[in-house]
Amino acid sequence: MRTTRIAAAIGALALALTVTACGGDDSEGGSSGNASFAAGSTMEKLNKAQKIRVGTKFDQPGFGLKGLSGKPEGFDVEIAKLVAKALDIPEDKIEYQETPSTVREQVLQQDKVDIVVATYTINDKRKAVIDFAGPYYIAGQSILVKADDASITGPDSFKDGTKKVCSVTNSTPATNIEKYLGDKTKQLVLFDIYQKCVDALKGGQVDAVTTDNVILAGFVATNEGAFKLAGQTFTEEPYGIGLKKGDAAFKTFINDTLEKAFQDGAYKKAWDDTAGKNDTSELKIPTIDRS
Ligand code: GLU
Repeated sequence: MRTTRIAAAIGALALALTVTACGGDDSEGGSSGNASFAAGSTMEKLNKAQKIRVGTKFDQPGFGLKGLSGKPEGFDVEIAKLVAKALDIPEDKIEYQETPSTVREQVLQQDKVDIVVATYTINDKRKAVIDFAGPYYIAGQSILVKADDASITGPDSFKDGTKKVCSVTNSTPATNIEKYLGDKTKQLVLFDIYQKCVDALKGGQVDAVTTDNVILAGFVATNEGAFKLAGQTFTEEPYGIGLKKGDAAFKTFINDTLEKAFQDGAYKKAWDDTAGKNDTSELKIPTIDRS
């Protein structure tokens, strides 16, 4: 009888120790693994859950492309992995959700994902409803045409009102190109994802695709000899990591994580291993906007 009671007491003590080791004391913040995060913070919540939901693209070579592995691969995916690592969440606990351009704000507002890393330009319209960490890259809008097309040399080539250009709904390039179009209703074709635009260009339904230079460079690289970029970039597209509006501590945490990666080489390696293979211009490390 006595032995049973002692055994029960030892068991209870062991359980208490285990709980303390895993969860910590909630009033002081807690953690799983080696990191420790402020009580009640998004960082603590994600770390304790050992899971992060990431919205990204599944059709953009070099940034987020879902291939045979079943998981998306690319620069945005690598950036998401850096954030997960800083939260002490293993890579295989990242839950990727395909997030086309038009739903990016929505999935954050509806708490369907924790972050969006998806060639996502920081701008005031979007900042009215969500927050951005970053920028972690500065792209610029460009134009993709068939390799043998000499008739389109830049956005001004659309002013005559005849040539058709494809982009994606609620993307910045779809808006930016409008002022160059002689006849918007006839010339602008919109899909939900860029791969559909590339298919339309291949099939001759459109004459060009417009979006960020580095996205287009991915399509040039994966369709050997079929396409080329026409002209120079004509906008600036600073890529940010989208997060729910008002979570200042999480934004600071992601910005700190990016800055550390800028300095310790992890950022450059992520670029060189992915989109940097398609765009060989010198990688310029951006300045984080803490405002
Ligand atoms: N960076 C632009 C944007 O955020 C175009 C790329 C995209 O649609 O993901 O709208």
